[in-house]
Amino acid sequence: MTARLFRSAKADRNRFIVLYVSMAIGLLVAAGLFVYEARIIVADGWRDEEAFAVLGAANRVLHDLENAETGQRGYLLTGDESYLVPYRKGIRDLDDTVLRLQQVAGSDERSLELVRRVEHAKTDKVTELARTIELARSGNRTAAVALVQTNEGKLYMDGLRQDLSLLLNDWRERRRVATEDAHQRLIFGSAALVAIAVLVCCLMGYTVYIQRRAFARVHAYSNALNQQAAQDTLTGLPNRRRLLSTIDALSNDAAAAKRVALLYLDIDGFKNVNDAMGHSAGDVLLRRLAESLRTATRQNDMLARVGGDEFVLLATDCGEDAKLRELADRLLSSVRAVGDSEYGGRFAIGVSIGIATFPDRVQTIAGLLDVADAAMYVAKRSGRSTYSFGSSPGPGLSNVVKLTR
Ligand code: GH3
Ligand code: MG
Repeated sequence: MTARLFRSAKADRNRFIVLYVSMAIGLLVAAGLFVYEARIIVADGWRDEEAFAVLGAANRVLHDLENAETGQRGYLLTGDESYLVPYRKGIRDLDDTVLRLQQVAGSDERSLELVRRVEHAKTDKVTELARTIELARSGNRTAAVALVQTNEGKLYMDGLRQDLSLLLNDWRERRRVATEDAHQRLIFGSAALVAIAVLVCCLMGYTVYIQRRAFARVHAYSNALNQQAAQDTLTGLPNRRRLLSTIDALSNDAAAAKRVALLYLDIDGFKNVNDAMGHSAGDVLLRRLAESLRTATRQNDMLARVGGDEFVLLATDCGEDAKLRELADRLLSSVRAVGDSEYGGRFAIGVSIGIATFPDRVQTIAGLLDVADAAMYVAKRSGRSTYSFGSSPGPGLSNVVKLTR
């Protein structure tokens, strides 16, 4: 029983070590995975920002060119110099916006190629715009309008729009991919976090369960050990140690105790059984005697085996001496009955009993055992199979134990 409890407690201890290690490994793996995912999500964010910058710069190029063209058209139509303001601003800004586009979109060959083509178209378009403005300013508006009508500028703008559109599409797609990737990773990460949290909660719950079970087993194991330490293995009765601790506990509460009697019993003629039938036959007899004595006593009283063939009965609230005499007679009869029934009555088995009572004969509960032991020897000396009451020495008394039967 105790060995099984010890093994189970040990197995539980190993189990929660495994659980703690698994949880630690799981959390480390989860942390690693999250760092990895977070880095990719941050990179997706950078890609998104990069694509956003390219889209902004590309639209800006178109916007500047359209501003310049609107100014040129207005000037050609009206000859109003104020139209040259948006024209000049557009032309001025274009250099910066194309440079910016080169910087932000120059990360791959295809984008670089498209930016180069946009730049050529832009240069051609700006030249065409400048030529028409020059013609108009030199008074030749008809030639300027004729130049516009050749559609040369429109062709440049169409080519430029087409290349910008390709560039925009590429970078929109990249932005979409980066955003989608980041979203998916966030969803996966959140789901994984929930799953890990649930798993860790389950593992923690299981660990708490195992831990409580292990503690309960250790507790039961230590109780069983205590029980064993306080029990006589042959008869199952409480042993001397348990008796002494009970006497100790009673002594601590002596004020509340009623009349307490301690009966010290030593079997008469027991050794003969050992000598004639062997030690194990003696053991069997001791067990029978223990059972018989137990049956003859009240359940509340403690019957202990304190030595080879020695028993002690501790009776709290034992009543008057008459009751104790009845009890002693009952014990004598029960032992004799065992002697008569075992081995065909071949052995004369009896018992000598010493009785001490608190508080009348002995003034301390702790003193009961010695006085009863001494009284038992008096009973032995007086011919065995009898009982004797003993008292503590009073002032001037030398004969402390006397046969009172
Ligand atoms: P008395 O009438 O004077 O009491 O003598 P006795 O024959 O009963 O023998 P005594 O009480 O002097 O000694 C008890 C013997 O019990 C001594 C020892 O060999 C034996 N004994 C002690 N423990 C055990 C035990 O666990 N099993 C058995 N079988 N014998 C034991
Ligand atoms: Mg004996």
